[in-house]
Amino acid sequence: MPDYYDRRECIPQEEREHRKTLQILEMLASGLRKSSRIRKIFDDLGLHHDEIKTLADFQILPVISREKLIQLEAMDPPFAGLSNADEEIDRIFISPGPVYEPHLSENDHLWARAYHAAGIGRGDVVLNAFSYHMVAAGLTFHTGLRRVGATVVPSGTSSSQLQVQLMRDLSATAYTGTPSFLLSIINKAHELGYDFKRDFKIRRACFAAEPLPPSLRDKFEREYAIDTYQMYGATEVGDVSFECCEKKGWHICEEVLVEIVDPATGKGVPPGMLGEVVVTRFNNIFFLFRFGTGDLSKIIESPCPCGRTSFRMDGIYGRVGDAVKVRGLFIAPSQLNRIKEAFGHVRFQLLITRTSHEDILTVRLEPREPAVDAASLAEKFSKLFRDECVLTIDRLEFLNPGTIKEDDKLVIDERQWK
Ligand SMILES: [Zn+2]
Repeated sequence: MPDYYDRRECIPQEEREHRKTLQILEMLASGLRKSSRIRKIFDDLGLHHDEIKTLADFQILPVISREKLIQLEAMDPPFAGLSNADEEIDRIFISPGPVYEPHLSENDHLWARAYHAAGIGRGDVVLNAFSYHMVAAGLTFHTGLRRVGATVVPSGTSSSQLQVQLMRDLSATAYTGTPSFLLSIINKAHELGYDFKRDFKIRRACFAAEPLPPSLRDKFEREYAIDTYQMYGATEVGDVSFECCEKKGWHICEEVLVEIVDPATGKGVPPGMLGEVVVTRFNNIFFLFRFGTGDLSKIIESPCPCGRTSFRMDGIYGRVGDAVKVRGLFIAPSQLNRIKEAFGHVRFQLLITRTSHEDILTVRLEPREPAVDAASLAEKFSKLFRDECVLTIDRLEFLNPGTIKEDDKLVIDERQWK
């Protein structure tokens, strides 16, 4: 039987959805009492709170991006009317922008579910290499580690040389921070004459704030025997999702509502489709409903073998602004990169045009090896493209070698919106 953080992680999904709906309704009622911004949003929409009864109704509220939050806070400092200054706020964090974030509550479970799922707990000594200065990261990860019983070394953004010394002197068993910083700490250790695997006790690492490329994960796990976990969140809304031991998707935390929406409309996309991750954190202090992260993801609804019943986010596919939309579906750069990796011997380019108000997706293929069987390549490429992007290619063209240059754009969008 897997070791859950608490009972809520294994309740039936319907029960979870019911609870989350009630929490949203409660937070809305409270927001209408306490937040001038929420009252204004309702007034502007001509909305009465009785009109929101379900999570689908809830999607009438606007998505608020980080840029929008910066603007709103600048106009109505410090919290854009989203928080009541009379509340007992224990901390105010500052993110670049600036964005001022009243910290939600000392009693929150911030990041604890993630650390627990990664097997961190009592007896662990964890180096917390997230910044403690102004931003939420250091202190909130610290609180999560303490909540699962681990001892924390608040090493923050100290130099890699100092981190090496702390890891060694204090026999640290785990690391939390960005993957790139862990790699530079390991490199520094080698530079100082250590053998990281032999001389250090770091056996687990929990990463956030940066993607973990599969090649780097592989390096940590194989070369240094470090079990790695990814965590996902945003400074405005705290922890959002985390990896379990299966490492196939990120379980959505019980304290947040995650929606995957079409950024153009703010409405949910069908299950399994790519869209923007929009998060609401249940709380009674900061009424930031529907925070638009700008990140692209999709939801995995199938049950996870670990036994947790929550839906999972299928990692992050990139930023909304970097993706292109074809027939209403996103194609993210990360998806194209995966196809590129699978077809190393082929250069390709996407051409998007529009005829009779319909998007036409043409893929140009340029095999770099002359002996390639065109029909079989076309079939394999189309299939992988469909599996990866959930989109069917309308036309496939074969180009002569040398037509697509190394630094040519991967996607050419020739659509004219007239
Ligand atoms: Zn799982």
